[in-house]
Amino acid sequence: MEARKVDHNHVEDKRLIDRESKYFAAAGRINYFDLVIDSAHGAILTDVDGNKYIDLLASASAINVGHTNDLVVKAIKDQAEQLIHYTPSYFHHRPEQELAERLAKLAPGPTPKKVGFGNSGSDANDAIIKYARAYTGRQYIVSYMNAYHGSTYGSMAVSGVSLNMTRKMGPLMPEVVHVPYPDLYRRQSGESEHDVAVRFFEAFKQPFETFLPADEVACVLIEPIQGDGGLVKAPEEYMQLVYDFCHENGILFAVDEVNQGMGRTGHMWGIQNYHDIEPDLISVAKSLASGMPLSAVIGKADIMDSLGSPAHTFTTAGNPVCCAAALATLDVLEQDHLIEKSKVDGQYAKARFEEMQDRHPNIGDVRMFGLNGGIELVEDKVTKVADPDFATKVIYYAFEHGVVIITLKGNILRFQPPLVITRQELDQALDVLDDAFTAVENGEVTLPESDQKIGW
Ligand code: PLP
Repeated sequence: MEARKVDHNHVEDKRLIDRESKYFAAAGRINYFDLVIDSAHGAILTDVDGNKYIDLLASASAINVGHTNDLVVKAIKDQAEQLIHYTPSYFHHRPEQELAERLAKLAPGPTPKKVGFGNSGSDANDAIIKYARAYTGRQYIVSYMNAYHGSTYGSMAVSGVSLNMTRKMGPLMPEVVHVPYPDLYRRQSGESEHDVAVRFFEAFKQPFETFLPADEVACVLIEPIQGDGGLVKAPEEYMQLVYDFCHENGILFAVDEVNQGMGRTGHMWGIQNYHDIEPDLISVAKSLASGMPLSAVIGKADIMDSLGSPAHTFTTAGNPVCCAAALATLDVLEQDHLIEKSKVDGQYAKARFEEMQDRHPNIGDVRMFGLNGGIELVEDKVTKVADPDFATKVIYYAFEHGVVIITLKGNILRFQPPLVITRQELDQALDVLDDAFTAVENGEVTLPESDQKIGW
């Protein structure tokens, strides 16, 4: 893609968004600038005004193998001509059978696994709650502050990243205890990574020592790398301490791979960024079927056998077209070596962001795990005070120069391009971000008039 400035007249974008605002309920969208996507291929989006953008969001990590990937499109078309849907709640079909077997075999660890299907990451996390409670006969779920697990009542209850996701909607599901997720960036003075791991493990244990009987806890649910919480990875030692604690206390260890799974981190699963951990339950969605509505809970077979029919069934779960898309997505990940590419391109992008960090005073932290990162923008590198105004201006400049990227927690750039992004596209996007940092530093960026807050 050659370098160019996009057309700043988003005439059709604006017209369609104004019209939509009369009909589309606000709770269903996190605000961004005027962008109505018309088509997309690979890592390139085209809007209804014909502007082209390099996509650094990949539909919220749901398009790891790239937009309209040829193999995925073919699989969808072929399957749609053969059978669009018959619910696996009653009968069997081959795409669902093949995918269940493939996912069960792909899950980390030697214990045999079984799979249940759903329609969204949220319901896959609800499934984790159901199976964990059923298997253990215990009620409590321990999850994390700054976690995002979804928008259904169960997954909302275990989330902890946005006040607007709990406000006005209570009471939420009871018997959930949130503990803090380790933060290596804002450490206390003189702390080593080991010290951070120990301090946060002490915080993890505190509820168990004061009000939470361990023998009443069904599972700990954790994102191996927090996604919407800002692309934050817990120290390896911390994860091992929690995993061991779970084993010692008969608590299931469950991981949410909705955001970080499917090759995103340079491994098939986010939890493979740690060593020798076999989760009891795993939730997956988003990129599983390249954005088609499909989720899965993958669990150790005896855990998955703890619920009988029809405790976890949805009419459209395991839809054949979605399953065919998922099988093709898995093929593409393998054939095009995208997991390895994620690792290599991630190292490249990390080095480039770190070089920018040396030159730009507002880049406080560069976190990159595969082609997947959080760039934290702060007022200055010593106080580390978050700078959402700076970050919003950076993403606006990027948007105006043909690069789509959003913020998390107001001040963190969410860097998650489709894994198929070419080196040329990657370089072009990074050059635009570099220019954006300079332009914002020089006070050259003014945000468009808007009464709406941009981002989460
Ligand atoms: N879990 C994680 C880690 C997520 O990032 C998300 C969505 O952003 C979800 C669960 C919810 O998935 P869905 O939006 O498909 O319900």
